[in-house]
Amino acid sequence: MIKLPKLSRQRIIDEPELSSIDLEWLYFAGCMCGTGYWGWDQDDDLKRFRAIVKGHFYSAQNRRCCYCSVEIDENRRLYDLEHIIDKNGRGDLMFEVKNLASSCVQCNLSKKTKKVLVVDSRPGDPLPEKSKDYLILHPHYDEWSSHFKFDKYERIVPRPNSKKGAFTFSLCSMDRRNIVRLADYFRHPHRPTAETILLDLYSPSNTKRAEQLNALKALAISSGYPDAVAIVGIVENDIALKESLLT
Ligand SMILES: [Zn+2]
Repeated sequence: MIKLPKLSRQRIIDEPELSSIDLEWLYFAGCMCGTGYWGWDQDDDLKRFRAIVKGHFYSAQNRRCCYCSVEIDENRRLYDLEHIIDKNGRGDLMFEVKNLASSCVQCNLSKKTKKVLVVDSRPGDPLPEKSKDYLILHPHYDEWSSHFKFDKYERIVPRPNSKKGAFTFSLCSMDRRNIVRLADYFRHPHRPTAETILLDLYSPSNTKRAEQLNALKALAISSGYPDAVAIVGIVENDIALKESLLT
């Protein structure tokens, strides 16, 4: 039997086929209309550009978000074509393929217009093309697995000593998704309550952690799922670690 290599999240190195697109027109229209042009639905070249590039990176990224690496749905409406350097302020990079990647909606929404470059750039500056130019993990210039891994509970964890991993984790608010993921071990109908308690427990401003840990424990025991009880142990360790770092 042929043994195939395991597919993993990889750096994106190939580019989409755009020969059918009038790129000069897109650059011109983008300059004339500003960044609002990106979402316009009356231009066939623009619609084709977005569809081709989005689909290309969806495949090139092994169907995973360029930042958090969660699997994204093949329906193009359910994930985003993301500008790594935000198009607001750098509209001249709006159609630069190396500045685009496919991301989950949560990462894109959380990242928004936040700073990603080590040194700020201005319109007309060339696209920074080295990993060291970016504070954030760059889908084209960095290896995801050098900065992140999944732990055994499928949580996204920045690798120790990876500043980019920690920065990207914070920028894309991945902590919330990790917390919510733990609630999945409680299953229906206890999951929504577990999710609410867990989000409170991990909140930095929380002053009732002991009380809430007890509530989570009681919920885990009453739910009858051994996995849920095990998760409470994980949460206790996490909270103890967080509190020890604060003292
Ligand atoms: Zn993501």
